Amino acid sequence: MNPIALIGAGPSGLAGARALSRAGLPFHGFEAGADVGGLWNIDNPRSTMYESAHLISSRTTTEFAEFPMRSTADYPSHRELLDYFGDYADEFGLREHFRFDTRVTAVEPLPTADGEAPGANGWRLTAVTADGDTVTGDYSAVILANGTLAEPNVPAFRGEFTGELMHTSAYKSAKVFDGERVLIIGAGNSGCDIAVDAVHHAASIDLSVRRGYYFVPRYLFGKPSDTLNQGRPLPAPIKQFIDARVLKAFTGDPVRFGFPKPDYKIYESHPIVNTMVLNHLGQGDLRIVPDIDRFDGRTVHFADGSSAEYDRVVLATGYTLDYPFVAREHLNWATASPTLFLNIFPPSFNGLYVLGMIEASGIGWQGRAEQAELIAAYLAAAASAPEQAARFRARADAPWPDLTGGYDYLGLDRMSYYVNKDAYRRTVKRLRRTLPEASAAPTRTAPDASRSTDLDGVRA
Ligand SMILES: Cc1cc2nc3c(=O)[nH]c(=O)nc-3n(C[C@H](O)[C@H](O)[C@H](O)COP(=O)(O)OP(=O)(O)OC[C@H]3O[C@@H](n4cnc5c(N)ncnc54)[C@H](O)[C@@H]3O)c2cc1C
Repeated sequence: MNPIALIGAGPSGLAGARALSRAGLPFHGFEAGADVGGLWNIDNPRSTMYESAHLISSRTTTEFAEFPMRSTADYPSHRELLDYFGDYADEFGLREHFRFDTRVTAVEPLPTADGEAPGANGWRLTAVTADGDTVTGDYSAVILANGTLAEPNVPAFRGEFTGELMHTSAYKSAKVFDGERVLIIGAGNSGCDIAVDAVHHAASIDLSVRRGYYFVPRYLFGKPSDTLNQGRPLPAPIKQFIDARVLKAFTGDPVRFGFPKPDYKIYESHPIVNTMVLNHLGQGDLRIVPDIDRFDGRTVHFADGSSAEYDRVVLATGYTLDYPFVAREHLNWATASPTLFLNIFPPSFNGLYVLGMIEASGIGWQGRAEQAELIAAYLAAAASAPEQAARFRARADAPWPDLTGGYDYLGLDRMSYYVNKDAYRRTVKRLRRTLPEASAAPTRTAPDASRSTDLDGVRA
């Protein structure tokens, strides 16, 4: 049987490599960047990290459960996190499985007989190395862990802005704002982080918002706020009732600072873990402005008829999912995202597996590791316990489990693959238990042996 291909050596890809090696499944990893760490490696050309970035969720709720961080910071910086992923890769001998500086450009089904579904005979993977050489290999399965926050979502605006126009994906350092009149469009976590950065550099900063947000402080009662109420989740309406009141008590009403009143309940969209933005609004360092109507040279016209001039516009408008190397029909794309059983498995079970396509408040890397363990357990069952694997597949024919946790998420593109972390992790664990324990492999792989297996399978 051909080995498995794994695309990406970010947190998800590393978790995938760990789960596959633990299950004793042969695989080859491909990483476009020079090393592990994914977007936490600011030097990775596709990284959307910036100099000031720190973890938004707290350390203990985010780290891999089997490998606690050495850092004692509650919200470590991206540099500490990159070290963490390097240590994780070293601890479990994961680097040896990857071919670095190698970008996957195509994943196509191998030819099949009439009547056979695409992917029935496996997949051909094509990649390009840093030297421009093309390599191909045939694989029984392909795990896509190429990240969800790399391809900028750039909305269309009327008119043209003739100052500097940039997306947050290109933002690295606040020095870029020196002396400028800056407009940031969008107040998600990146937009707010960047607004706070810009305060000490820009001549002025306006933040254009379309809707209201809920702002969660990093600390509540002296503890990282996402560490409270762990373990036994409250029913959605009770949690919404309590937390909305706690937030009001601690952070006040964002409407007072110029934000519109949210037209949805807390947790129906991703909360903003940043109250510094409110402090700066209170100090008059920032100003909230309405939604954009149109650009006209350096003038921006807003939906309420007002206008202002800017030197730079920063689009903090998020990212779109992108799996550019595989035809959309193989991932069962709906409009904004693939429709996948548990956000992982195409319902046709065609041998493609998506790892890391989850957006959730507080799912952390452990949530991604649990996805990886489920994929590895399924692949191991498909090889050695076909009846159990078939029963698992049959679950995708029944109504799919509810992963919302009872929250009525906003019907936005960016929420199309959003899950509730408790509902999701509970479901993944439950379905994991329906599959046999994957055969135990040593905690560390033998580097030299695995390296030669990996690269031999790829034809240059
Ligand atoms: C500023 C910022 C703060 C964040 N804070 C948090 C937080 O606090 N908590 C949290 O849980 N998450 C946070 N995230 C989300 C972040 O996406 C995840 O933590 C995590 O990085 C996802 O891992 P991943 O492996 O799925 O994707 P990525 O980290 O994006 O890694 C994907 C990897 O795939 C590689 N790749 C892509 N295309 C190809 C290809 N064609 N061929 C080969 N390799 C390819 C890339 O080079 C990259 O190394 C944050 C994100 C940002 C930008």
